[in-house]
Amino acid sequence: MKYPLITLKEGRDRTARAGHPWIFSGAIEPAKSELGAAGVVDVQDAAGVFLCRGLFSPSSMMAVRALTARQDEMVNGEFYERRIKTALALREQLFPVKHTNAYRLINSEGDFLPGLVVDRYADILVVQISTAGMESQREKIVAALTRVVAPAGIYERSDMGARREEKLGDQVGVLFGEVPDQVEILENGARFMVDVKNGQKTGFYLDQKENRRRLAELTKGKRVLNCFSYTGGFSVAAALAGAAQVTSVDSSRPALELAEGNFKMNGLDPEQHEFIVADMFEFLEDMKNGQKKWDVIVLDPPAFVKSRQDITGGLKAYTQINELAMRCLTPGGILATFSCSHHVGLDAFSNMVHIAASRANRAMQILETRFAAADHPVSVHFPEGHYLKGYIMKAGE
Ligand code: SAH
Repeated sequence: MKYPLITLKEGRDRTARAGHPWIFSGAIEPAKSELGAAGVVDVQDAAGVFLCRGLFSPSSMMAVRALTARQDEMVNGEFYERRIKTALALREQLFPVKHTNAYRLINSEGDFLPGLVVDRYADILVVQISTAGMESQREKIVAALTRVVAPAGIYERSDMGARREEKLGDQVGVLFGEVPDQVEILENGARFMVDVKNGQKTGFYLDQKENRRRLAELTKGKRVLNCFSYTGGFSVAAALAGAAQVTSVDSSRPALELAEGNFKMNGLDPEQHEFIVADMFEFLEDMKNGQKKWDVIVLDPPAFVKSRQDITGGLKAYTQINELAMRCLTPGGILATFSCSHHVGLDAFSNMVHIAASRANRAMQILETRFAAADHPVSVHFPEGHYLKGYIMKAGE
């Protein structure tokens, strides 16, 4: 089969040749390209040398996202089955199913399937398609997932902002089998209910699983404040590890209701812990001069920087919330602070934490730098994939 051909302008092939999966629309020579509808295309340089085969998005700044640099590889059902099998084998290697049956099965560019995220919650899959190119492959993807994973149901949650840039509307609903409203999962031996239909993103923040496990090890006998707790991922992990008391704060009431349920599911008494619906900035502002301090604080805010234009304002918000959290720590307390904004790199994050600590007038030691769990692999050719970063820090005595 021959795919439509896209030709790059003279001198615009350097990044693609080096393996970066994105080709910007400005790098394409329209006069020499067979541009058509969204779908599979071949990309060649100005001299006619093959560069990659990828998915074309007609309305996007990112015109092509590469799937393969092998000319002879057909992009058919078997191609997707091979990619999904490889991804599944990696997750099965990473997580013993007895302890963890929820993970990101496909991490877009990180699994060489740009525009596609698939999260697995026990026997249910939740699919997110973010590009017009990948949208054109939906049927093949669903068929391949069904064959390789044999799930009980597949649900689509393609309702994220990124689709606007591709001129795509939302796509939400059952793609295969039967999907209950909520699915019970196991993560590091803890049970959680995931609201796959109405929860945030695909229902659960799987990227934090290793950080929840690591942090929990530091919480025995401690008083823990989980800021931006969502459904209590860090909270349950800490309580199961023997935290004396856990306070979960989030602005979302439904998330906190699920959090309480998640405590019960793990045999923990929610009455001994706190669940507070509040704006995090206001909550910490109220607490910063008070008597109440916490031994461990988790700070996992939503992305404050969603685009390049937000960087200044977003960094201000990160600095403010980190300063407030540091003020609420006991002497020697632990702060686990994160940013999931991919426009905020590790350098900017590190600088932000330094400013927050000097404003809070706290000596802080960085104990560990943390990233997303290994079911969120990052291609070396696509460093943009490193969106989540965090520090576990200790405050001075
Ligand atoms: N740590 C969580 C994920 C946090 S996602 C986990 O492990 O599952 C970010 C959370 O911040 C969401 O639950 C969202 O409802 C909440 N949120 C966003 N803005 C907020 C604000 N201003 N105050 C309090 N919570 C907020």
